Amino acid sequence: MKYSNLLKTVFFCFFILAILGCKQTTESENDSSNNPPKEGRPSVSELLNEMDANKDGKLSKSEVHGPISNDFSKIDTNNDGFISKEELESAPKPDRRESGNTDNSNNIQKDLEVTINVDPSLFIKESLLKDIITEERTLADGTKALCYIITTASQPTEHQMGPWCPTHINDGKDKGGIWFKDDKVYDVDGHFIANLKDFYNDEEWALFREDGSIKVTETQDECEAAARPDVDEKYHNYCVECLPKYYKEKVSTYVIPVKPLYLENSNSLGGNGIGLAFNGVNFEAPAPTHAILAAHTLAPLDDAGGHVNPHAGYHYHAVTGSTKEIQQKDIHAPMIGYAMDGFGIYAHKDANGNSYDDLDDCGGHYDNVRGYHYHAGDAGSNQILGCLHGVIGSMSVKG
Ligand SMILES: [Zn+2]
Ligand SMILES: [Zn+2]
Repeated sequence: MKYSNLLKTVFFCFFILAILGCKQTTESENDSSNNPPKEGRPSVSELLNEMDANKDGKLSKSEVHGPISNDFSKIDTNNDGFISKEELESAPKPDRRESGNTDNSNNIQKDLEVTINVDPSLFIKESLLKDIITEERTLADGTKALCYIITTASQPTEHQMGPWCPTHINDGKDKGGIWFKDDKVYDVDGHFIANLKDFYNDEEWALFREDGSIKVTETQDECEAAARPDVDEKYHNYCVECLPKYYKEKVSTYVIPVKPLYLENSNSLGGNGIGLAFNGVNFEAPAPTHAILAAHTLAPLDDAGGHVNPHAGYHYHAVTGSTKEIQQKDIHAPMIGYAMDGFGIYAHKDANGNSYDDLDDCGGHYDNVRGYHYHAGDAGSNQILGCLHGVIGSMSVKG
């Protein structure tokens, strides 16, 4: 009986390994967490079988002994009081994180009294391409940690995308998106386009023709020529509008540590964004307004604060309250997503409409309920976060 159970478990393991193996061929970085056990060391199934006294398929605190007992709360990542087979498979090996500092002595991890793990159930399932999985991965500082792998096509389900560019100077604000200058948000309607000369105090702006029609990129080729950093001369003085449908095959993969680790020193924002909303859409670093405006182009955001570029597809540069929010029990601002280091991102203002005045350069602060967390910048600031204070995972776009 026991022997046949073991056989079944081993068979199941190989089956899972085969599936994971296929998946992993599409990922760039990987690790050893799913490799078969080394010779002489018991496999996860053997350990489970040996210690699972009541044969319920999981381990309670009283059933375990040795290093697993010492690390029980670390291995029990969902804190349900049991170690499942998956949690055991993903358990951090001793002497990894615990060995302390990485070789970068500037990046000293600091233990905070309250640290909140990432809650994968907050993501909108329908917005993701696959179920979120948990795997050990290498973080940006070279340490290994248990991570959530979140796969998305950047397709929000709770709000529409666009519009971005109005097509005539008589168009109302329902025909266009928003733009920002000096911390203020403006509706991009026909009037706004017609008045760009005054708005920027620059005579070279001419986004509309004599008949009042607005010059808008109309194809994928046009959008790409106008959206690249060295804007094609032909598309100077254009409203740039790349449509989500051009890039709907793009797949973004986020690797985010299950348990965020606070660093004494912050990281500047990398090229792959800051984090993501619960709908799987990227919160991006500030839009490169210098390059955009230097060519007298405009790349409006839609009312949700997002637009499309050929690299990442649809992404946000502003938080406007259009995406899923998790209301808090106190008056604290609602939660809107996660940063690449696993710390939560919250809206700019609390329930009373006040913004926070104790934020660090990244836009973060600490409280006993939420641990360290960030607040998004005001919608007009072109800055969702200023930097990141934790060890970041990774993000890649394919397709
Ligand atoms: Zn952008
Ligand atoms: Zn806060």
